[in-house]
Parts: sequence; structure tokens; C-alpha cells
Amino acid sequence: MTKYVYSFGHGRAEGSSVMRNLLGGKGCELAEMTNLGIPVPPGFTVTTQAWAAYNRGGRQVPEGLWDQVLAGLQKLEEDAGAVLGDPHRPLLVSVRSGARVSMPGMMETVLNLGLNDATVEGLAKRTGNDRFAWDCYRRFITMYGDVVLGIRREAFDEHLDGLKKRLRVKADPEVPADELRKLVEIYKDLVTVRTGAPFPQDPHEQLRLAIRAVFDSWFAKKATEYRRINNIPADWGTAVTVMAMVFGNLGETSGTGVGFTRDPRTGEQHFYAEFLSNAQGEDVVAGIRTPEHIDDLRRRMPEIYDELLGIAGRLERHYKDMQDIEFTIQEGKLYLLQTRSGKRSAAAAVKVAVDLVQEAVIDQHTALLRVRPQDLTQVLHPGFDAGDKTAAVRAGRLLATGLPASPGAAVGEVVFDADRAVEWAKAGRAVILVRGETSPEDIAGMYAAQGIVTARGGRTSHAAVVAVGMGKPCIVGADGIVINEERRTFEAGGRSVREGEIVSVDGTTGEVLLDSIKTVEPGLHDAFKVLLSWADRYRTLGVRANADTPEDARKAREFGAEGIGLVRTEHMFFAPDRIPIMREMIMAGDPQSQQAALDKLLPFQRDDFIGIFRAMDGLPVTIRLLDPPLHEFLANPKEYREMLEERARLDALNMNPARQAALDEKLAKIDSLREANPMLGHRGCRLGITSPKIYGMQVRAIMEAACTAAEQGMTVEPEIMIPLTGTVGEMKLTYTQAKEIADGIKAEKGVPVKYSIGTMIEVPRAALIADEIAQDAEFFSFGTNDLTQMTFGYSRDDVAKFLPEYLQKGIVQHDPFSVLDQEGVGELIKIGIERGRRTRSDLKVGICGEHGGEPSSVEFCHKVGMTYVSCSPFMIPIARLSAAQARLRAREASAEGAPSA
Ligand code: PEP
Ligand code: MG
Repeated sequence: MTKYVYSFGHGRAEGSSVMRNLLGGKGCELAEMTNLGIPVPPGFTVTTQAWAAYNRGGRQVPEGLWDQVLAGLQKLEEDAGAVLGDPHRPLLVSVRSGARVSMPGMMETVLNLGLNDATVEGLAKRTGNDRFAWDCYRRFITMYGDVVLGIRREAFDEHLDGLKKRLRVKADPEVPADELRKLVEIYKDLVTVRTGAPFPQDPHEQLRLAIRAVFDSWFAKKATEYRRINNIPADWGTAVTVMAMVFGNLGETSGTGVGFTRDPRTGEQHFYAEFLSNAQGEDVVAGIRTPEHIDDLRRRMPEIYDELLGIAGRLERHYKDMQDIEFTIQEGKLYLLQTRSGKRSAAAAVKVAVDLVQEAVIDQHTALLRVRPQDLTQVLHPGFDAGDKTAAVRAGRLLATGLPASPGAAVGEVVFDADRAVEWAKAGRAVILVRGETSPEDIAGMYAAQGIVTARGGRTSHAAVVAVGMGKPCIVGADGIVINEERRTFEAGGRSVREGEIVSVDGTTGEVLLDSIKTVEPGLHDAFKVLLSWADRYRTLGVRANADTPEDARKAREFGAEGIGLVRTEHMFFAPDRIPIMREMIMAGDPQSQQAALDKLLPFQRDDFIGIFRAMDGLPVTIRLLDPPLHEFLANPKEYREMLEERARLDALNMNPARQAALDEKLAKIDSLREANPMLGHRGCRLGITSPKIYGMQVRAIMEAACTAAEQGMTVEPEIMIPLTGTVGEMKLTYTQAKEIADGIKAEKGVPVKYSIGTMIEVPRAALIADEIAQDAEFFSFGTNDLTQMTFGYSRDDVAKFLPEYLQKGIVQHDPFSVLDQEGVGELIKIGIERGRRTRSDLKVGICGEHGGEPSSVEFCHKVGMTYVSCSPFMIPIARLSAAQARLRAREASAEGAPSA
């Protein structure tokens, strides 16, 4: 018989941390804490294997499960000294979900299970607190009604709100016992009316149905959505933990709270917690009451506070990571209800990892592997320009201040519901989701929004925890904000703000301001630099930047680039003072006028190159010769339309034949350069071969710039790169021509600049004949944008027409233009490297397509032995960390695979 139920209690547990997949995160950590001697109420966990059997059997409880639950319950009753359904010694339990990864708030929980008309009296007697017992009962019916019987919570809450209005009280605890007793009758009637059956009085039946409901909550829409966003497999399922209830709402010596062992927003080392006296856990998590500061606990119950802090420290050392804990104090006794690795902002992830190394808790390897490279983008998020913000505040644009729950700056249009947030974001609009409080139903809207503001709730409420995980600026408990959902406005700071109006959200300070405020790029904090310096120590893969201007080059260097892997020279021709000359060059009717135009372009190029060499002093710079089809430089569609219109006018008037003829010639030239398939047309080295003067001018500009920079004392290392090579003939000819000019300039200037000439590998054929290409090419750089385009045969420009459907149907797993296709394109890369190095064993090989900053692609580049990856400046930190992780993982894998001595 499969063991489906694992007990814990009285300092002993059948499970432990290592059984996460079987017992879920919550279940295994409760077991672990029990074994550590930390005070945890007794209970048992129904395994994910039981869920799997339930799922397989068409949602039928598997054979033997109920008997095991009853046995677990019996042990629980012994440990707790109370019995489910016994009016004299009533036991109440919580029934909680728990998957192997945390899915905060996505699945269901039932609290206070075991109450019925008899046990409620018993509970009142035993606690000497009538009000408490009836309050538990009404909470239980609400939750059970919602989770198990499918009656929306609001149906119950309406009655409670009405009662509070009638009694003229604000807070729930002010409702007296006899009123709660009457309320329970109303609730029970509501259940009977809605379900056609009375509220179940048999606690065993309650338990059986609650376990099923928690199993089923795995399939709920919000849970499914969350799994989709976070790539969690649908067949993992959830465990269910049944645990004795402890009460935080038994009076002034009771309370409940949640906390992080470090600040989850910044990673700073202080206990970051919230506490509510005389309350149950759901009040904190749901953000229904705005919690008190944890210092209140320190003042009221100093010993408990110290004990809690001690346990928090122990848990952190035991798990070697920042923990997120839930606790309850029942009449002066502390219980831990949960511990898990705390969700944190990217900035906090970096700081905690670095601090834990410095505190000798973990080593550098562990720290490096703990930070998700893609999360580093969050550390690079902008903040608000201080001057602009101060001016906004002075101008009276501060609408409200709330709790700063997740750092960063966001600007967008106000929306009041998640669906609209998704809809507007899809249309390319930046939105700020403004809600009373969020619930897991809002998850897609939160994901779509730039920032989130809630009127209620604390820093560990749903909105706060989810936003921190997403790295979105978020403000909670902005109680200056009053939302009118019907009119779709909110009132704040004496103003009324309509849906669609722009607000700015400062998640770092908690301020909501009217209108947009200028944002500024963030500075990199110390821990970030430390972590990346460790990454540099472990990685063997180089990291370069794609940069086209001296400014980009400087930024790249600041982020740690070890060179430039791609300067796209065509970008230099689009500046307003250059494009007319470029057009002149293209339209030139004879070689002399073409040369004259090129002579005018040369100094521009040379100056740009000097600027880049200066910024990259001492580091290699790969400059690619002209690549795009010439047509791209000619009239854009609007200009072309205007030219056609002008010609029509001139034709009609027939007054300016000279202008007419010139226009005709221009239009004819433009039309002649038009291609049916320009990406596969007259571009790349094909241009260099048919118009050698263009490449000639570029090589001259590069070499003159290099000589000038060298004369000025800089160390330059230009790498001249030929694009789109596919045949040996192309390589040979462009190589020879470039070399002749480069050597000529070196001799002319008398400056011994070291340079090399190589090629992009972006035509599949080039990868296949790489051994021959390498006879001339002194380095390779894989242009995986074009290589992907040509390997799949998917046009880079038109892929969006069918890719979404391909992704949705699972025909491709990822967009191959962002995540490198290792199977197909990767195979060509492997072949290219292997064959290239057959000819030149020390061949320098890089990648400069968009994949160069994508973590899984970087790992691939490490594995296949590339020399470096090159990516946009902002991606460099991601690439550095990814490269280190790739090496560490490869080392771990080879250590595992090594035969033992
Ligand atoms: C490439 O093709 O991968 C590349 C870097 O060049 P471009 O994107 O400019 O075509
Ligand atoms: Mg390309």
C-alpha cells in the first residue's frame, strides 16, 4: 500500500526538507521544523502522490487514502490533546495546499475546520471566550462556503458589513458574541438556500470534502495562469497539510504575523515583519487590516519577540537562505506555521547572496548559482529623476503616499481592473493597475502593468509579495486613495483621477504622483558589483558588447564589456547630416560622383571610430562593414509618397521640365534598387563585391582612426568584419581587398597597428564550409539573427505573423529569435566552430546575434567553446553571470559524471 500520509508533531516528523516533491514546500518544512525542535502545531501531510492518484483516477479519492487520513488524524488528536468533533475537547484544524514550489495565494486553504453547532459551544467553554468561538464559526462557514461549496465570499461578507453598519462599528472585533451567533444562523441559512443542503455538521465529512477541494484548487483558473507564467508543470500537483489550529485571535496576548528574515525589497539584514494583535493569519495575508509594525510586538511581548528573532536566525542558518515565515502567538505561546525561502526583488537576491558569503553561510559558487541572470534586469531598472520629482511635489502633484512594497519607478495610464490592464498593455499602452487590494485573480493584470498601487494592505499582502517577485514597482496601503469603481475614478490629494490619466509610481518611496516624471538609469550597487566580480572570476567565456556609438561603448565598458563584438556601421549613416550624402553616394550616376560622396562620408566614419577606440582603449573592437540592402537608405515610404505626389503635380503643370526629369531619374533609381526579398538580396559582402569602393572607404576610415588613436597613445585592436559570407570566393575577394587597403594605410601612416580581418557566420553554407572560410578569415562571429532566419527559413520581419500560434500550439517552444535553437541553429554553430578550428586551431569565435545576452544561449556558447558572447550593454551583467553559471554547472556535471576513486 502506498504511503500517502506523513505525520509531524511533538518534536518528531516522518518527513523532512528533502521530501519537497512528495510533501510540498509547506509540508516538508513543517516536518523539518518539527525535527529541529521549533514549536510547530501537530499535523500531517497528504502527499502529491495522493494528488496524482486522485487526478489519474478522474478526481476520485484513491483507495486507502481516507483510512490513512483517519490514522494521521488520530495521531494528531493524541499530540494535540483534543478530538475532532468532540464538544468537550474540540480540535480545530487547518487544511492547506502546498505545491513543491511556492505559488502564493494561488490555491485554497480552509481554517477552523471541525466547528459545528456543538463544538462551537465546547470551544466557547474551553476558551472562556464566547465571542472568539462564534467568530471562528462564522469565519469557518465563510471559508468553507467559498472554497468547498462554491459560494462566493462576498455573499457572506455582505451580511457582516450590513451588521457592522447597523451596530455602527468599524472593526470586526467590535461585533459582540450574540450578534455573531445570529450571523452564523444567517450564514447557515444562506448555505442551505444556495446548496439545497444544510451546512455539514459532521467534522469528518467536512475534512474529506475540504481535502478534495484543496486538491481541486490546483485546477483553478488563477493557479493555472500562475503556472503558465512561471513555467510550472501541470502534473506536479499539490500536497495537503492538515494541522491543529492555533489562535491568534484569543485576546491581547495573542496575535499573528508574517515576516522575512531580511528585507525582501533591498536584502538589508533586518527582520522585516508585520504583526496583528488579536487576529488570524488570513487578516494579514489578505491585506484586510493594515498591520502594525513588528516593534509593537517587541513592546507588548518582549520575550516572544526575542524567541521569534532567535528562531528566524536559526531557520536562516539552517536553510542557508533568507526565509519567509508565518507565526501565531496563542495566549503568550509562539508557534511557527510556515517557513520557506523568501521571494525577493532582484536587488535583494543579489545582496542576500553576497552577504551570506560574507557571513560564511554559503560559498561563492552557491551565491552565483542563486541569482537568476534574467532577474538582473530588475537591478538595472530606472528610478525617478530627483529634480523632476521634487518639482512635481512642489507643484502639488503628489496624490498619495503608501507603503513602498517593491522598488523602482513606473509611469502609465491608470486602470482599475486586471482585464483592462491586460487589454491595454496588449495594445502597447503602459498601465498602472490601481486596486483596493489585489487577489490572485489579478495576476495577469499585474503582470501586464508597469506598476501596481493598492489602497489597502501591508507590505506582505498579496500585491506586495507578487510585485516583489515580478520586480514591478508597487505601493500598497495608499490609504489617501479612494477608488470609485463605478465611475472609474479615484480621489486622492484633493483631486479626482480618471481611468486613462497618467500617474507615476515610486515603489522605492511609496509616492503616487499625477502625470509623468522623468526616469533615470539606476546606479549599480555594491553587492551587484561584488557578485559580478565573482562571476568574472569563474567564467571562461568572454563578454563583449554590441555598440554603435562612443556613448554606448562607454556604457558597455561600465557594465563590464571586454570589448566590442559588433559595431553596425550602417547606423552611422542614418544621422540627419549624413543620410543625404549616403543617398548621394547610392544615386551617383558615375564613379567620380560616387567617390566624391564617399570622400565626404569618410571623415564622419573616421571620427566615430576614433570615439569608439578611445572609449574602448586597450580592448578589441569588431567593426562590421556595410550590411543592409542599399534601398534601406533611400526614401522612406513617406518621402517616396511625397516624391510621387510632386511628380504628379509637375506632370499636370508641365512647367519645370528639369525638375521633372531629375525626379523621374531619382524615382527610377529607387525603383531599380527595390528587391522582392531584400534580406536575401543585394546586401552584406555582396555589396562589398559589387561596390568595392564602399568597403574601401570604410576600411580606410577604420585604419586611419586606428592609427590616429594609436598615435594619441591608445592601444587599439580593430577587427574588420565582413558580413554575410557564404562562399570561399566572397571571403577571399573581400579579405584581399580589405587587407590591401589596410596595409597601405599602415605603411602610409607608419603606425604599427595590429588588426585582423574576419567574418560573420550567418549563412548556413558558411558554417558548413567553415574550414575553407577560415583559410582567410582570422576570426568568426556567429550572426545568429540571420543564421536563425536562414536556418528556419522564417523571415525576421514577418515571423510575428505566425509565431504566436506556433508557440501556442507547441510547434516551437520559444521564439527562436530570442532563445537560440540549440538543436538546429546550434548544430550549425558546432559544425562551424569545429571545422573552422580544424584550419585555425586558435580561431577566435564569438556570437553577436540577439542571443548573446540570453542565459540559456550563453550557456550553450560556453559549452561549444566560443571565445566570447556579444550583447547589448544592458544585457552584459546577465551575460557575465550566465557565463559563470554555465562554467559552474558544467563543472558540477563533470564532477558528478566522474568515476569515483
Ligand atoms: C545577425 O545577423 O545576427 C547580426 C548580428 O547582424 P544583423 O542583426 O545586423 O543582421
Ligand atoms: Mg546579420
